[in-house]
Amino acid sequence: MGGIPQPADFDPQASYVAGLSTNDVSSQDQDNPTPEPNVGEKKAEKQTSLTTTYTRDPEIARKAKLRASDGRCELCGELGFETAQGCYYLEAHQVIPRNCDGPDEIWNVAAICANDHKCAHFGNDRKNVRDRLIKKLVQHYPNVADRLAELAAKMDGSGDTDEKLEMSADT
Ligand SMILES: [Zn+2]
Ligand SMILES: [Zn+2]
Repeated sequence: MGGIPQPADFDPQASYVAGLSTNDVSSQDQDNPTPEPNVGEKKAEKQTSLTTTYTRDPEIARKAKLRASDGRCELCGELGFETAQGCYYLEAHQVIPRNCDGPDEIWNVAAICANDHKCAHFGNDRKNVRDRLIKKLVQHYPNVADRLAELAAKMDGSGDTDEKLEMSADT
């Protein structure tokens, strides 16, 4: 948690979608009184993004979730918890974050359980989580293996990989 918590790569022009993007449960997100993220708010705190899932493209999040077999987390293989609507809850996670040039493409988005998603951003071994997810994605999209490896290498070369992962509380 070093450095100033800037809202990582928040692009005010992007159509961020608040709520649980990988499910159709956002409409029942009544427990959250502030469904709109303060995208343009410079003082947005990391804590806010912990409880809100953002995605540029809800369709990509949906596809990633469909790819996750039977609602199983693409990292740990466990079923997400069951939602009130009878779906399994998973979150879409951008494996190479936007602030490291990760594209908003299906091959860069993993569907993982809520706990693993927190680990992917804030866990002690978040870099390891990233690499495991890359391996998983490459199984589905072998043609982008080089691209992902290149992006990961570039990210590692930048020296503050962990911080970037932490700050990119994204999808
Ligand atoms: Zn998991
Ligand atoms: Zn994420």
